Amino acid sequence: MSAPNVIVLGAGLAGLGFARHWPGCRVFEADGEPGGHARSHEFGGAWFDRGAHICHSQDEAWLKLVGAATPLHEMAKSTVLNHKAGRWFAYPVQNHLFDLPKADREAALADFLAAQEKYRGREPKNYEEWCRFQYGDYLLENFYRLYTAKYWHVPMAELATDWLGGRLLPSQVANIVAGAQGPAEEKQAVFRTFRYPCRGGFFAMLAPLAEGVDLRLNKRAVRVDAQKRIVAFADGGEESFDSLVSTIPLPELVGMIPDAPADVRAAAAKLRALRQICVNVVVGRENLSPANWFYVYDPEIDVSRVSFPFSLSGERNGRTAIQAEIFLPQAARPDESALLEKALADLGRLLKFPASAILAAEIRAYPLSYVVSDLARGPAVRHVRDWLRGRGIETTGLFGAWEYVWSDRAFAGGRALAQALREPRP
Ligand SMILES: Cc1cc2nc3c(=O)[nH]c(=O)nc-3n(C[C@H](O)[C@H](O)[C@H](O)COP(=O)(O)OP(=O)(O)OC[C@H]3O[C@@H](n4cnc5c(N)ncnc54)[C@H](O)[C@@H]3O)c2cc1C
Repeated sequence: MSAPNVIVLGAGLAGLGFARHWPGCRVFEADGEPGGHARSHEFGGAWFDRGAHICHSQDEAWLKLVGAATPLHEMAKSTVLNHKAGRWFAYPVQNHLFDLPKADREAALADFLAAQEKYRGREPKNYEEWCRFQYGDYLLENFYRLYTAKYWHVPMAELATDWLGGRLLPSQVANIVAGAQGPAEEKQAVFRTFRYPCRGGFFAMLAPLAEGVDLRLNKRAVRVDAQKRIVAFADGGEESFDSLVSTIPLPELVGMIPDAPADVRAAAAKLRALRQICVNVVVGRENLSPANWFYVYDPEIDVSRVSFPFSLSGERNGRTAIQAEIFLPQAARPDESALLEKALADLGRLLKFPASAILAAEIRAYPLSYVVSDLARGPAVRHVRDWLRGRGIETTGLFGAWEYVWSDRAFAGGRALAQALREPRP
């Protein structure tokens, strides 16, 4: 029996993870380069990623695989800050209440302690309840609700809690109480230590993963005939398959299948994601912030997260590279030049540099970044993927499984799928 003809759509980390564990498969990628959302580019003498990317993986096998590609800057203790109303305080806010004005600190602590009593043992039904039960009303209303509005653009009660692992820390009463009594060293943050390439941006450590993979670049899939098992590409080419592994966005894939039934289309239409805008800036001054990155709670500032690429790579050169990220609903089409101008003015005010010190600035929009983990996501994704699976189409990766995963997990998801397809089905 000849080997099944398996083709892969997308050469991001999930596609590469699959391909490296399925010898003989071909990977069709719409772009002219592999790497997907983990790619980096050079601008104004600095490397920028598609939003702040760091390697905080604890997966030994992954670190062995990617750790030798390029010299890495090892950050033993990250500095992560928050900004609100002209005040800087350490991240995450609940562990550093001492940094807040006395009245806020006391209100936050009182509400936090009351919540521990009031909601003990209760299971939160959504993100709003999760925050209320974990942190109490003051932190919910004055921090988490503000940030959710800027970042997710979805009411908190519509968000699920399945995305929280590895992001917010489960509340630890003793730490929070201690953090309200005096300055606290951050010991438990998820990103306390990380690695980042000294040169070339985040993708410098991942680029070798594409070596040896049968890559077909500039091949954008536009139609999938799920019955005849044929993929058509924008350049007019076609490929048949026994199994199709797709890492491209699930709604896009369903849209390419003319005979996808209405219920599957309806489920795919429920999937929401964020449009991401990155403002990349190089300023001719050093040390504009002690932070590796910081979060901005102020509603009047569009920017949600700001990172400093030279601080990630450990480079000192008399300049500061800044990446400011703005997250919008996927359908938003903002005036980008106005957004850039406002972001530069806001950054200048926050970081205290004059416009004349800006050496280079650009704005880049990415149509998809974080998937929105709302309450509809899980059932809708299962419905779509079950239907696809029945037609020889498996999906994996950040947008293929429509579930947030870090880069190491995206690659591991591709690898796990290759292993699962190899095993005989029960
Ligand atoms: C804002 C942000 C910050 C992040 N920060 C970190 C971090 O700090 N650390 C970390 O480890 N991870 C981070 N991640 C996660 C990491 O970027 C992803 O897990 C990983 O890049 C996802 O890889 P993927 O292959 O699943 O998806 P993708 O990278 O999206 O790959 C899919 C590929 O499919 C291609 N494609 C799309 N449509 C078609 C088509 N029609 N035909 C053919 N090809 C197509 C795309 O061009 C792309 O190359 C972050 C993610 C985001 C969004």
